Amino acid sequence: MTKRNYRLLFLSTPVGALGSGIGGGVELTLQNAAKALMAKGHEVEIVAPEGSVTNVTKLTQISGNMQTSAQTQVGADMVVIPQNSVLENMWSYARESQNQFDLLFNFAYDWLPLYLTPFFNRPIAHWISMSSLSPVMDAMVSKISGICPDAIAVNTRACADTFSHGDRLMIMGKGIDVNQYNFIAKPKNPSLAWVGRISPEKGLEDAASAAQSTGLPLHVFGLIQDEGYWQKIQTSFPKAEIYYEGFLSTDNLQQKLGQCSALLMTPRWIEAFGNAAIEAFACGVPVISYSSGGLKEIVRHGKTGFLVKMGSVPGLVKAIDQLDQIDRFTCRQQVEAEYSLEVWGDRLEKWFDKLISNYSNARIS
Ligand code: UDP
Repeated sequence: MTKRNYRLLFLSTPVGALGSGIGGGVELTLQNAAKALMAKGHEVEIVAPEGSVTNVTKLTQISGNMQTSAQTQVGADMVVIPQNSVLENMWSYARESQNQFDLLFNFAYDWLPLYLTPFFNRPIAHWISMSSLSPVMDAMVSKISGICPDAIAVNTRACADTFSHGDRLMIMGKGIDVNQYNFIAKPKNPSLAWVGRISPEKGLEDAASAAQSTGLPLHVFGLIQDEGYWQKIQTSFPKAEIYYEGFLSTDNLQQKLGQCSALLMTPRWIEAFGNAAIEAFACGVPVISYSSGGLKEIVRHGKTGFLVKMGSVPGLVKAIDQLDQIDRFTCRQQVEAEYSLEVWGDRLEKWFDKLISNYSNARIS
């Protein structure tokens, strides 16, 4: 059978412009998925809110008001969509242009694209990038995974298990362009890193507390989403040596991250994956994290980092003391073996083969 090259339309998160950092890990995930599939000969167009930037492929920008981030809607039993919504406008564009594509790939963690799935005349693949946060989304994930088998994917088993019908979700992992990250065998000075959106669910205070106890400098990389929270951390840990590095491009981030002795990942929610972990590994940086969520499936305890009980600052401090047990090259090897764009691209391509053929068979019968 000859291999088909697909025409794919990727729909970005409607919470912020692609490249702004507001979308968190999903911004890198979308661009890496595009790279992985284009390397296999497929064509990709990205649709994203106005103000977006990407150098990966053709980008169509859509105007309109942004969606509120799902992590601020925990427990919600209704859906909020603003007037002149960018989400609505992106899906109107998708409806008008769908016949030019073989498949649409949705990266929004939103009710509307899930609901629309059976109404389109092209298959829609959904990337659900966070754990179950609200009954209204959970119910729609269950409904659509029942009507359209295999249409919804998550990164990890841990993420799938938070949904009512988690057994129906595809577990797709992730991939990064490992060549974009330089391996650093030995950092110049001992220091700690923390990477992510500065927002309460990401638990920066635990990393600040561990930095204060160990006396090691903590470099913080990421967008300040909650200014009050950020101020409070600085006043709560006056003796911690914290350096705010800003929200950096992948290239600048990897250069600075590679110079750190470890990445602390201290989320206070069930982290669906944690892109920063595999980016750190690619630079040779071990990850010290909580034994919960997706990070439990990524970090190999004692080999590529340490997993400690959620919220245990003494556990983080003990792990920092044991960092000399980790061979930084093992971290790089884990990414190359499990999270390369090639490996991930194969998995995404097989998923799309299945969705596209299921869809054409259903239309014939
Ligand atoms: N990031 C970045 N520059 C920075 C800090 C973070 O590009 O200075 C990106 C990082 O590459 C990662 C994302 O922000 O892709 C954070 O994603 P993660 O999955 O760790 O957490 P999320 O924000 O999705 O909860």
